Amino acid sequence: MDRIERKKTRAVQVGNVTIGGDAPIVIQSMTNTRTEDTGATLEQINCLVEAGCELVRVAVPDMAAAKALGKLVRQSPVPLIADIHFDPALAYRSMENGASKIRINPGNIGGREKLSELARQAESFKVPIRIGVNAGSLERRLLKKYGEASAAALVESALGYLELLEATGFSDLVVSLKASDVFTAISAYRLFSEKSRYPLHLGVTGAGPLEAGTIKGAVGIGTLLAEGIGDTVRVSLTASPVEEVRVARRIIQSLGLRGFEPELISCPTCGRCEVDLVTLVAEVENILRLYSAPLKIAVMGCVVNGPGEAREADLGISAGKKQGILFRHGKVIKTVKLDNLLDTLKEELDSLLSEQQGKQEERE
Ligand code: SF4
Repeated sequence: MDRIERKKTRAVQVGNVTIGGDAPIVIQSMTNTRTEDTGATLEQINCLVEAGCELVRVAVPDMAAAKALGKLVRQSPVPLIADIHFDPALAYRSMENGASKIRINPGNIGGREKLSELARQAESFKVPIRIGVNAGSLERRLLKKYGEASAAALVESALGYLELLEATGFSDLVVSLKASDVFTAISAYRLFSEKSRYPLHLGVTGAGPLEAGTIKGAVGIGTLLAEGIGDTVRVSLTASPVEEVRVARRIIQSLGLRGFEPELISCPTCGRCEVDLVTLVAEVENILRLYSAPLKIAVMGCVVNGPGEAREADLGISAGKKQGILFRHGKVIKTVKLDNLLDTLKEELDSLLSEQQGKQEERE
């Protein structure tokens, strides 16, 4: 099977998590609680981590939030990133309080001198910075030059800031180039990755509510990941941040870049379907929630084409009117009554997993 060849980027260490280099694509999200409400924020951080989030960003809009960060850092199971706008003193205090990374919008931090000073401070704390260039706050000079916040304008802005920070001797940098227009975002990341080896944080900003945002994120982030571009991902949704993590995992897994959980493949149904496939698929989905291995499980609505259509599935069901057949990698292994289908699937799943585990142990 063809595999995605990822573009080689420089590795940047964020606490115990590596972004870029040979590291797997990192999933991150952002809390939407008041940061100084450490109880609520920690609860959300834990929910995010449980869903598979590997880095969590928190807003640091004032000193109360920067102060609260100390407690959050001590209790968070994953490294925390401080999101800073306008005031570099907030970044300094966040680093003092243990932030593993700082995210800034370089256009609103108070000018070139303050930006250079921030880089020198980050170097002394050994904390990386993400330069988050945003189409909504591009320098006037570039807007004038390009006539709009185009991909080329975003890239020129990012490269300019990188040069400024590098001049201080600091290079622990991650870059994002966000635009709410998906095509502009894709073009900007493509262009940047041709010109630089800094690791890229992928995102489509202001993506929208759950369904629309999921689609926009999947198209934007998915297109780039399929081209080997991107080292860390944040899906933006106007929804619970836990949903952002779930969507990010699915985008990454759908491209075969990482495996997190079983993948359910089901047919769209057609005139040949003789069972209530929607209900059956929901029942199988419930069973799969009990497993974490990245197996592919197919559920097909007829016995005619199922095994052939879902040949790449580790295990599958083709459901007929009264009975269903179970298959492994396209080969039929059992025929069972509909009533017993789910129990048999579970048994087969367990046996497949223990078989795989046995092989793994043999290899070790
Ligand atoms: S698996 Fe059968 S029911 Fe499902 S779409 Fe294909 S032919 Fe139709």
